Amino acid sequence: MKGRTEISELGEFGLIDELTKGFRPSNATTLEGIGDDAAVIEASGDEAILVSSDQMLEGIDFDLTYFPPKHLGYKAVTKGISDIVAMNATPQQITVSLGISSKISVEFLREFYSGVEFACREAEVDLVGGDTSASLTGLVINVTAMGRARKEKIAYRRGAKLHDLICITGNLGASYMGLQLLEREKRVLEGVNDPKPKFDGYEYLLERYLKPRARYDFVKTLDEENMVPTSMIDLTDGLASDMMQICKASKCGARIYLERMPLARQTTSLAEEMHIDPVVAALNGGEDYELLFTVPLSEKERILGLGCIDIIGHITSEESGCLLVTPDGGEIRMKAQGFKEKE
Ligand code: ADP
Ligand code: MG
Repeated sequence: MKGRTEISELGEFGLIDELTKGFRPSNATTLEGIGDDAAVIEASGDEAILVSSDQMLEGIDFDLTYFPPKHLGYKAVTKGISDIVAMNATPQQITVSLGISSKISVEFLREFYSGVEFACREAEVDLVGGDTSASLTGLVINVTAMGRARKEKIAYRRGAKLHDLICITGNLGASYMGLQLLEREKRVLEGVNDPKPKFDGYEYLLERYLKPRARYDFVKTLDEENMVPTSMIDLTDGLASDMMQICKASKCGARIYLERMPLARQTTSLAEEMHIDPVVAALNGGEDYELLFTVPLSEKERILGLGCIDIIGHITSEESGCLLVTPDGGEIRMKAQGFKEKE
């Protein structure tokens, strides 16, 4: 081993590319390897199996000071199955592996598993295994999710085409603002006996951060409408970063109109109170677990007819790059986020 390169020089996505560039699938059953939300594996006939793995670390991805264990269990399942949903597939099984530090009690873990159970029941997913070990540093949660889809229905990141419409389910930035609220109350109440945090009027934001639901309902809607997006990704790293993943995989550019950003009322109101730009929260916040997808321009009326989708821009040529268009017509180049050092 010669020299030393800091991980920060590569960033999260650069690091994954660097480590995995030499790996090429050698089995014919590996239909899609590294690079999308989930891997795609040959099943029988016209179906494929989808697999994805996600990890959550205490102190990086969650803070046990304010994260109720039941919600943490629920969110871990959401994080796992959201990547299956992002392929336009139906999640069916998960495994949950834990690294448990000595400060975690059996009661805590029972609550955690009641959240896992609730999420599994809601999403019609089976918990089929996992692993349990000790951790020196803090709680570690790993969820592997598996699902199924007809091969022709699978939506990859790489399928966006010139002039396609860029669409999103739901609204953005609410989870990020929920986290800001929890962090603010934690700072304010540090060292206070019997702390009473002020969350009035912002319950929706807390729910979006602590107990987000994966959009498996939208996979059903797409199926009923017999629609397949040309590309799709789940919004976990912030709109800008996730849009750039689609552009990179599809070798295209994008124009996103900031005035079309769907924001919930509570998001804008807390952002105003905390002097945060809600559009920046939507662009960079992440953890929305909504879906970002593209459809051909000819599908515009059908997409709008669904009533729950916002069209926020369109796909352009690769040379044009990934641009944000401000309300006065100005253009800003998008920046990727990569992994968080600490929340
Ligand atoms: P997501 O945010 O959708 O979970 P990531 O950005 O974490 O996806 O990962 C991008 C791709 O890189 C995925 O296909 C994932 O499986 C793969 N990947 C991430 N980390 C590793 C790793 N350590 N080794 C191999 N593949 C990895
Ligand atoms: Mg994903």
